Amino acid sequence: MRRPDRFAAPLYVTRPVLPSLETVHGHLADLWSSRILSNQGPKHKWLEQELRSVMGVRNLTLFANGTLALALGLRSLGIKGEVVTTPFTFPATPHCITWVGATPVFCDISPDTLCIDPGAVESMITPQTEAILGVHVYGMPCDVHALERIAERHRLVLAYDAAHAFLTEIDGRPIGEFGHLSMFSFHATKLFHTIEGGCLVYSDASLRPKLDLLKNFGIQDENSVLEVGLNAKLNEVQSAIGLAMINEIEPERARRAALRHRYLALLAEIAGIRCLRLPQNVTDSLQYMPIRINAKEFGLTRDEVYRELLSFNIYSRKYFFPLCSDYAPYTQTRSGTTPNAHRASEEVLCLPFYGDMGMETVDRVVEILRYLSELARVR
Ligand SMILES: *Cc1c(COP(=O)(O)O)cnc(C)c1O
Repeated sequence: MRRPDRFAAPLYVTRPVLPSLETVHGHLADLWSSRILSNQGPKHKWLEQELRSVMGVRNLTLFANGTLALALGLRSLGIKGEVVTTPFTFPATPHCITWVGATPVFCDISPDTLCIDPGAVESMITPQTEAILGVHVYGMPCDVHALERIAERHRLVLAYDAAHAFLTEIDGRPIGEFGHLSMFSFHATKLFHTIEGGCLVYSDASLRPKLDLLKNFGIQDENSVLEVGLNAKLNEVQSAIGLAMINEIEPERARRAALRHRYLALLAEIAGIRCLRLPQNVTDSLQYMPIRINAKEFGLTRDEVYRELLSFNIYSRKYFFPLCSDYAPYTQTRSGTTPNAHRASEEVLCLPFYGDMGMETVDRVVEILRYLSELARVR
């Protein structure tokens, strides 16, 4: 068994998609002549319109990033009590709850979707509970129907961190149509991005003026400030990048779909590696390439695989380890038992996944994983 070659250059988990410089240039030329650089100018309005159409939603407001979008979304709904959420997520999810003065409460995830488990949510509800905040992890949708029933029964706000779920659909319905509000991130590491940026999609159209105030210091006009707002505006340069990126979405999705197909076919042959399978009725966001490593069957733990891959110059990511409930600010936070979340955080690894990595790179990554598993078996 020959040791496969090490990658000559570091292979990262993702690489940002970029539009052509000419397209960006055209947009920048407009800014140079108008000198409108921020404050919800023409590019910002145009991008909001484009995204409503691309994402198939009516109510959409842009923000400087996904974190501010989610925090201000929770603020716009006056959430101050407990919010039941998942520990298997990026730190921004519980941080947004904390920043608006509310209290996160953690519950377990379901072992199949790795998203918040509706039964576990219900077990954590108290008279102080005001909202549920689910995360569509890797674009796998939460059990939106069960969560909706729970939210209705207990009169709770239902919000989603949909940062991984750009263009995810359930039965052809855009993911942003579920719940009261959903946050999408347009960070450079996401498939569609504005370098930094994000948006909220929401069901109640009357929220829009409030969100527009909250992202601009609460300023209504020269004489009145109506809200304790922040500065969370997407500027005109970022909006221009977004406009130039619109045409990159479908080609990038096509490239990633082909890579995904290859990864799934090749990885199926390696014992101890499991891929997340989306249900038939769900459209893939093609954001990440997560695998789960069963240490007993594979012969190495996830952490050992992570380290071995580094020796081949492959920078995989342990999304999500540690759990948010193990971060310093949340060790005292109320939490149910979370065995599924713990297990997932010890087994998941996100492999390199971006459009121009090339099919042969997928083959080499899988060959290295196969080599590691065979090596572990003879040891
Ligand atoms: C990227 C991401 C965020 C943060 O979004 P920003 O736009 O970087 O603020 C929040 N939650 C999840 C799950 C993410 O992946």
